[in-house]
Amino acid sequence: MEQNNNKEIASCVKAAVRVRPLSSSEKQDLCQTCVEVQRSTNEIILANSTAFTFDYVFLPEANQDDLYKECVHDMIEGCFQGYSASILAYGQTGSGKTFTMGSGIEYMDPTKEGIIPRAIIHIFQRCASYERQAEEQNISLAKCVVSCQFIEIYNEQIFDLFNKENIDCRTQKHVDKHVVFENTNGEITVSNITTRFVTSANETLECLKEGALSRTTAATRMNNVSSRSHAIFTVTLQFDRAVQSTNSTATSSDIREHIRAKIHFVDLAGSESLKRTGATGLRAKEGISINSGLLVLGNVISVLGDPLKKAAHVPYRDSKLTRLLQDSLGGNSRTLMIACISPVDRDFSETKSTLNYAQRAR
Ligand code: ADP
Ligand code: MG
Repeated sequence: MEQNNNKEIASCVKAAVRVRPLSSSEKQDLCQTCVEVQRSTNEIILANSTAFTFDYVFLPEANQDDLYKECVHDMIEGCFQGYSASILAYGQTGSGKTFTMGSGIEYMDPTKEGIIPRAIIHIFQRCASYERQAEEQNISLAKCVVSCQFIEIYNEQIFDLFNKENIDCRTQKHVDKHVVFENTNGEITVSNITTRFVTSANETLECLKEGALSRTTAATRMNNVSSRSHAIFTVTLQFDRAVQSTNSTATSSDIREHIRAKIHFVDLAGSESLKRTGATGLRAKEGISINSGLLVLGNVISVLGDPLKKAAHVPYRDSKLTRLLQDSLGGNSRTLMIACISPVDRDFSETKSTLNYAQRAR
C-alpha cells in the first residue's frame, strides 16, 4: 500500500522558474522587463502574451530561503527515506544558476546562501537527529555516512574537481580517465573520481568551496569554460534503518535495512550554448557536445515527465550528463529542474527558449 503511494511521488519531475532581479547596470541602462509572474496560478507571462505554467514560480524578490523551503526541503527529507534526488539549474549565462545553486563562496549576508550550502546543513542536522533518536530508543545503528564528489563535464569529458592535476590537464590533450559505468550493485559510478568522506557540514562546505575554486581558476585560464560545462556536486548518504520485524521473537533492532541515497546538484552549462552556430574548430566541437548534453537532458526529462511516454525508451545513454544522472533521474527518485531567467526584454528570445525547455519537464 505504502509502496504504491511512494512510487507515485517518487517518479515525479518538477519544474520551477525563477526570475532574477534587474542588475544595477540594467537599471542604469533603463532596461525594460518582459516577464510577469503570477504566483496564484504559477504562471509566467512573457511579453504580455504567452503564458507558461510551472510547478513553482519565483518572483525576482523571492529569497533563497523561500525557494529552499518551497521546493528543495522535502526532496532532502525524502533522501532519508531512500529516495535519490537531482536538482538542476538551467538557463542562459547570467540568469542566476550559480547564485541559485550556491557556489561555496561565503556571503557577508548568509541569507544569500544558495541551495547546496542549505542542503548540506539540512543533511547534517537530519543525521544528528537520526542518531539521537536511535540512541534514545536504545537501538544500536551505525552512524550516517556522508560522502561527496565534485565533477565537471566539459566537451563530453569528465573532470574531477577535487583533483587539481586532472583539472589542469583540461588544457592538454585529454585521455579519458573517467568513464561512467554501472557497478555490481547496480549503481551508476564514475571511475577514478575522488570521494571525500565528510563528517560535518563545515567540512562539506570546505569541499564545495575547494571544487568551486578549482573550477573558476581553470576557467579563467581557458576562455570561461564554466559557462560551457556542467558542474555536478554529488552527496551520497548511507545509513541503516531499523525495520519493524514481522517475527515476534525478534526485536525491532534485529532487522536493518541499508539506505543509500544520492543527491546530485547540477549547475548546467549556459543554455545559449544549445544554439551556438557558425563556430569553427574547438568551439564548434564544444558547441556540438554541450548541445548534446542539454538536448539529451531535455529529451530524458520530457519522457520522464509524461505519463503517456512512460513506457518509452529513456535515452540516458545519449550523453555523459544523463548517463551519470541515470540512477537519480526517474525511477525511484525525484527531480527538480529550476529554470533561471532574466526579466530583461533584450534577453527575450533566450528567456522564451528556456521557458519552452522547462515546459517539457511537466
Ligand atoms: P549564471 O550562473 O546563470 O551565469 P549567476 O548566478 O552568476 O548566473 O548570476 C549572475 C549575476 O546575477 C550574479 O551577480 C548574481 O549574484 C546575480 N543574481 C542572480 N540571481 C539573483 C537573485 N535571484 N537575486 C539577486 N542576485 C542574483
Ligand atoms: Mg554560473
